[in-house]
Amino acid sequence: MSSNTLQQFLTTNLNDLKEKGLYNTIDSLESANGPIIKIDGRELINLSSNNYLGLATDERLKEAATKAITDFGVGAGAVRTINGTLKLHDELEEKLAEFKHTEAAIAYQSGFNCNMAAISAVMDKNDAILSDELNHASIIDGCRLSKAKIIRVKHSDMDDLRQKAKEATESGLYNKVMVITDGVFSMDGDIAKLPEIVQIAEEFDLITYVDDAHGSGVLGNGAGTVKHFGLSDKVDFQIGTLSKAIGVVGGYVAGKKDLIDWLKVRSRPFLFSTSLTPADIAASIKAVEVLSNSTELQEKLWANGDYLKKGLKELGFDIGESETPITPCIIGDEVKTQEFSKRLNEEGVYAKSIVFPTVPQGTGRVRNMPTAAHTKEMLDKTIAIYQKVGKEMNII
Ligand code: PMP
Repeated sequence: MSSNTLQQFLTTNLNDLKEKGLYNTIDSLESANGPIIKIDGRELINLSSNNYLGLATDERLKEAATKAITDFGVGAGAVRTINGTLKLHDELEEKLAEFKHTEAAIAYQSGFNCNMAAISAVMDKNDAILSDELNHASIIDGCRLSKAKIIRVKHSDMDDLRQKAKEATESGLYNKVMVITDGVFSMDGDIAKLPEIVQIAEEFDLITYVDDAHGSGVLGNGAGTVKHFGLSDKVDFQIGTLSKAIGVVGGYVAGKKDLIDWLKVRSRPFLFSTSLTPADIAASIKAVEVLSNSTELQEKLWANGDYLKKGLKELGFDIGESETPITPCIIGDEVKTQEFSKRLNEEGVYAKSIVFPTVPQGTGRVRNMPTAAHTKEMLDKTIAIYQKVGKEMNII
């Protein structure tokens, strides 16, 4: 018999979410997650994926993954430290280190568990972490897991960071202090102020940790936000995902050899969770090769981002202050934002609404993620649909 207490908990809370309009239903795709997706038999222009460079459906990656399955099967068979490390894992880590301009790298099964793994392998209850208030959920969870004191810093506010770094280091309460930030903030598309962060870190001897899930493959000729600012030898932890621009799944830390050696013996998802599959690794290796040899896809991504931003701005939409191809369209009111996204969908554009509590109250937005795989025709059609729906709903 199942627990009555559990059932009561579930019924109450599910109903509560539904009443507040916060219960998200999930759309299942009947196609690959490319620039056009199919849902419930309808084809839609897809502006919601993190497949920034279109590599998730790239023939070169598919071929590499297929060959790896033929040669090595579908599963790695064990955790990395037992015998789930294939030569392919080593090769991927070497290629990632080269790509990131660091001494070494370690791969994890996802970006999420990479943050859980890396933060808690180094920080503990005698330490403090200065964390930007808009950092990703996996950073927040990784910080919590470490049991270090979490000190929230106002978003990209360098005065606040300096003040709190000074207080934390001068208090004598902590053994180590870390500053942790997203490289690119995915809700607004703004870039972390890494030169100032690194300067403050040097002044107060802070450990630096940059989660570049949305900057890798996008900025710095593909190598990411840290490279973009020329700081490759000044940031201790460079986190990336294999799931966004790389187009596959997984996460990694790139940094000094000693740090990576430590993570290989101390980070729990590496020690206790089965490693990435042969297909994931082979496709990721191919993606890193593609990115290392050419910037063509990044150029296409940025051109598409600029084109969409210009089109929406000219129509009178508020597209915020994005510094990257991520294009938020800020509507404000939560209900209106959700209605706007729904109407776009009915007209053929799949762009998700993002509302409180993911973003501050009153700043509801429809977030557009143009990719290198979108054509000009797709973007023109998107802009025309935005115009139609925007006028109809008195947004422009
Ligand atoms: N960090 C950031 C900043 C992210 O945006 C995400 C993905 N939403 C992750 C980590 C988690 O990455 P993954 O999807 O590879 O688990």
